[in-house]
Amino acid sequence: MRKSMDTAGAAEWSIDMADCKKVQKMIGKFDHGQLDIKQEEFFIQHVESCKDCREEFEIYYIVAYGLSEDENTAVVAKCYQKLVEQYDFKGLVELKLKNSRAKLEKLKSWNRFVRLCWYVANLCMLLTLILWIIIRYY
Ligand SMILES: [Zn+2]
Repeated sequence: MRKSMDTAGAAEWSIDMADCKKVQKMIGKFDHGQLDIKQEEFFIQHVESCKDCREEFEIYYIVAYGLSEDENTAVVAKCYQKLVEQYDFKGLVELKLKNSRAKLEKLKSWNRFVRLCWYVANLCMLLTLILWIIIRYY
């Protein structure tokens, strides 16, 4: 989506199509939590704004959960169980996207926190070094 906005004219369509292919290949990996943060962000952003891929995503769940009634049914996390039982795959996709987005936000703020800690630790070391030099040489 973002890509298509800063690409003007005829190329727009083909780039979108390429994105769709990429995204649709990622669905299984997304569902199994096998995408890295960047990929997952790209995936969510695209699916949220692309009707075709959202449909494809729903179909993925219909195939995964909806068609098999027996014990072969993929194990569903508790929070999704109700939606699966009601065959509300549209809702399921929405909830999955929402949860994934929340997870990414959490990860991002955690990363920011870690980076901050790293800076503080470095600053402390630097101050210690300066103090040590002052004590040692003055
Ligand atoms: Zn798409």
